Amino acid sequence: MKVMKFGGTSVGKPERMHHITKLVTKETEPTIVVLSALAGTTNALVEIGEKISKGDRAAAKQSIDKLEAHYQSFINDLVKKDTAVKKATTIIGEHFEFLNIILKISFSEALNKDILAQGELLSTKLFSTYLEEQGIDHVLLPALEFMTIDNHDEPHIGSIKVRLSQLVQQHPGAKLFVTQGYICRNARGEVDNLKRGGGDYSASLIAAAINASVCEIWTDIDGMHNNDPRIVKRTVPVEQMSFEEAAELAYFGAKILHPASIWPAQQYNIPVKLLNTLQPDAKGTRIDEKAGSVGVKAVAAKDNIIAIRIKSSRMLLAYGFLRKIFEVFEKYRTPIDMITTSEVAVSVTIDNAVYLKEILKELEPFGNIEVDENQTIISVVGYEIAKTEDMVKKLFGSIMNIPVRMVSYGGSPHNISLLVPAEYKTQILQQLNKGMFGLE
Ligand code: ASP
Ligand code: MG
Repeated sequence: MKVMKFGGTSVGKPERMHHITKLVTKETEPTIVVLSALAGTTNALVEIGEKISKGDRAAAKQSIDKLEAHYQSFINDLVKKDTAVKKATTIIGEHFEFLNIILKISFSEALNKDILAQGELLSTKLFSTYLEEQGIDHVLLPALEFMTIDNHDEPHIGSIKVRLSQLVQQHPGAKLFVTQGYICRNARGEVDNLKRGGGDYSASLIAAAINASVCEIWTDIDGMHNNDPRIVKRTVPVEQMSFEEAAELAYFGAKILHPASIWPAQQYNIPVKLLNTLQPDAKGTRIDEKAGSVGVKAVAAKDNIIAIRIKSSRMLLAYGFLRKIFEVFEKYRTPIDMITTSEVAVSVTIDNAVYLKEILKELEPFGNIEVDENQTIISVVGYEIAKTEDMVKKLFGSIMNIPVRMVSYGGSPHNISLLVPAEYKTQILQQLNKGMFGLE
């Protein structure tokens, strides 16, 4: 069995849905197709939720109507036969009626999750209606019946596996399954989700749960590139990388893949392929346990980073100091990304500012605290790059004019991370492209 996941832009227009149908029906192996919401829908639903939470029902109603009109015109070009048009109209009617009912009840976080789930429910049902119109046999698998998270919002492949295989076994001989990415049920049995961009995570969890031969992530770019194509003119796709390299890149800013989606595939050793629906024959990027080549593979940038420096002479020759600092971040469930220390100071970075005030207050007794907001982490990733000859010279040689705030080297042999003020991001990515890859 294999998994094919299509992101929002791959299903965002009726002709794109027609196109991916060709891709999924070419398969000879039984396939689970995982879909995102149509491009723009989840953003629209987030907005609707925000408007309702602020009590601005009129504005929320306007957004709901606008979204509904978008779906109406979408199905006009998606399906043609009377029965299919009727069915698609009913689907839209039901989901938008639901949103209109929500408008009338008092807002809660749980209700907001129900709102957010509408996108994937709509995209899969409409896709299924189109497949039916085309006479393509398939089974719609409700993700809410097998994708679950525990009370720490963590999914467990074991329990997903039990439920999913039961569902799949109810359809012996079926070749094509369609299900929703992103949405799940939480420990309280409520509708929940795997956080923004979580469709990739769903795909990887499903691939692990069914022990798939491959987990294909289809987007609109031909794989993971060596640099950010939105910022740097010439970038090239990386053909092969290891799970570790992909995890570093996804975590540190490569937008193509949700960072959490690496571990399930890695744990069950399922190869992941990043492919382009617009160029289905392009090689894309293959991620498995092999690195492919030694040396630098790619750079990525992660924005909105906050650096915190804690300076204290009490740190000198003391032990237990770092533990106490880390405990503060743990208490507020705020992950630390980078860390560097000197004998009298420690600098850490975080990307989640929700509890920044509380954290700073609790850090105060430890020493002098300095905060730099609006920083960017630049990650240089490649198999054993930290050991590659001349790497450091090339790296720093190409960015000599840039004020680097922190350097993290040696934590992983596959990653060197630099922290720079955000205004230098474009410049540093461009200079690294030249200095490390010889691309201009
Ligand atoms: N639809 C969700 C989002 O836009 C999940 C996904 O597409 O991966 O965040
Ligand atoms: Mg995505």
